[in-house]
Amino acid sequence: MQYNSTRDKTISVSAAQAIKTGLSAEGGLFVPDSLPKVTGEEIKSLCDMTYNERAYFVLSKFLTDFTEEELKNCISQAYTKEKFETSSIAPVYALNDSTFFLELWHGPTCAFKDMALQILPHLLTTSMKKTNESNEVVILVATSGDTGKAALEGFKDVNGTRIIVFYPNNGVSEIQKRQMVTQEGNNVSVAAVEGNFDDAQNGVKKIFTNAEYKELLNRNHFSLSSANSINWGRLVPQIVYYFSAYADLLNDNKITEGEKVNVVVPTGNFGNILASYYAMKMGLPIAKFICASNENNVLTDFIKTGTYDKNREFHATISPSMDILISSNLERFLYDLTGEDDAQVREWMNALNTTGSYTVTPQVREKLSALFDAGYSDDDETMAAIKDVYQKYDYVMDTHTAVAKSVYDKYVTRTGDTTKTIIASTASPFKFNQSVLIALENCNYVTGKDEFTLLDELSVKSGMHIPKSLAELKNKPAIFETVCGKDEMKQIVSDFLMID
Ligand SMILES: *Cc1c(COP(=O)(O)O)cnc(C)c1O
Repeated sequence: MQYNSTRDKTISVSAAQAIKTGLSAEGGLFVPDSLPKVTGEEIKSLCDMTYNERAYFVLSKFLTDFTEEELKNCISQAYTKEKFETSSIAPVYALNDSTFFLELWHGPTCAFKDMALQILPHLLTTSMKKTNESNEVVILVATSGDTGKAALEGFKDVNGTRIIVFYPNNGVSEIQKRQMVTQEGNNVSVAAVEGNFDDAQNGVKKIFTNAEYKELLNRNHFSLSSANSINWGRLVPQIVYYFSAYADLLNDNKITEGEKVNVVVPTGNFGNILASYYAMKMGLPIAKFICASNENNVLTDFIKTGTYDKNREFHATISPSMDILISSNLERFLYDLTGEDDAQVREWMNALNTTGSYTVTPQVREKLSALFDAGYSDDDETMAAIKDVYQKYDYVMDTHTAVAKSVYDKYVTRTGDTTKTIIASTASPFKFNQSVLIALENCNYVTGKDEFTLLDELSVKSGMHIPKSLAELKNKPAIFETVCGKDEMKQIVSDFLMID
């Protein structure tokens, strides 16, 4: 299988090249030249497999230039018992007979990004070898919280890689900060940047586009790369868990063979929901996709009107990992919906770049609305959903999952659709303990209590264990205390790599 660019389909590269390069040179994203098909019999056969076997089943259909041994190596290093607190890796929780939470947060950083970032480093280093790249890869990340920690955990101690994460000094939560400054591993570095997320992001972009610096790195046998969600190596592992969830539901007799289910995904960059769409195109029986947003509801409007318009106020919400106005992976979806019309995609993406908006054709809108529904939930509704599910079912959702549940409830009220439904649960409630406890109690309840007290209290209320990786933070020493100015970031990289 080869991969084409969404902005120029004459470009054709292997999976290893697509993963190594991340982004195509003219700015497009890599997509498979065709989607592999999976039969009902094959889906049934997944029922007897472990998560890792299911992952091999899906990944081997896409990464056809990887040998069986290479792929199995990548998978077995990523999804281990040490890293995931459950042997099923991505378990399904039945809320009732028709609503199921696909829990994607049992990995080392307690959020769904682990599902992809635990395997990406291995896919990347394997791709480097396969393409005869001898440089060591240096991953640069600017993070507003979740991605940085998940990337650090994924890349730590992976041979042939180094990783440096920059976070805004006053722009992440106390737990997120502690997660990063206590990071272990012999190839990692973390620094705070004086400024906000945009300052950190711009600083990283400047380093990436500095040709002279790139040359210096190359002379020292280093190549820069990023771990962001446009890399095909991050998207493809996400297809696996939709197949896995379906097989689990079959095993538990919650659905029958071939029965169509709905999927609800709390969405930011459109990566997770796109993976479910690819699963459907491959043959997984999915009826409807429900795209859930918080108050940054650019996707809700797009799906309802066909116009994508990022010119709007940015809201900082209690589901911060979805505070996004440009959903990069939508580009892959548009490429598919237009029948792989690269010129059309290029035009829309140029418009997005210059005017901040574009409108799709009536044909594309029609295809879109046949399959996708959308809605958004503001912070009050999200809090109410957390409390409601806790009171009815004694189950505690995090704020992102609660956005999805709230949007789903509104969808059911509006449509009366009783199709069985999988809701992607994207973070542990412990990771967003403060907002969750405010939802369950009130604002006063949390004032004056530190993060670790809140973890304990949430554990009592939910009857769940505090995830090991969060509990351990309390006693871990801070290793990275550097705070740098936004113009000093390049020097931080040089110091870490010991070049000048
Ligand atoms: C990143 C993230 C999302 C959004 O996922 P996308 O693939 O970017 O749409 C939702 N919830 C959590 C907890 C996340 O970390």
